[in-house]
Amino acid sequence: MPSAAAQQGAQSARPKTSAVKPTQQWRCERCDVSITYMVGHERNDPPAGWAKDGGRSHCLRCRRAQAAEEAIERAPADTTREERAKIRAAAILDFEIQRDPDRPNGEIAKVVRCSVPAVVKSHRRIEALAEA
Ligand SMILES: [Zn+2]
Repeated sequence: MPSAAAQQGAQSARPKTSAVKPTQQWRCERCDVSITYMVGHERNDPPAGWAKDGGRSHCLRCRRAQAAEEAIERAPADTTREERAKIRAAAILDFEIQRDPDRPNGEIAKVVRCSVPAVVKSHRRIEALAEA
């Protein structure tokens, strides 16, 4: 005789917490991208690379873009297209170094898509500015 109902009812009482608690969400003010943390994984700090400034959150991409835009704004009006591209690249590089100065140069070069010597040069420039 088979006994199929031997273990029935043993695992029926499971709590349903995930459906009740809201998840935590970060939304970028500029591009509207959002990062959602699951219940139990909420955090007080912004997501990696994000920054909260006066209640406004910005994603890493936008922060880079803003760093580039600010540098372009400071450039003289007669700056050529080519020079602007260089200014933009340098601004993003500087931003990445200042964001996390302890990263290896090779890693920063990879993120910014530039050469390692360019990162070293930018490091020196930032250090010189800090000493001035
Ligand atoms: Zn954004």
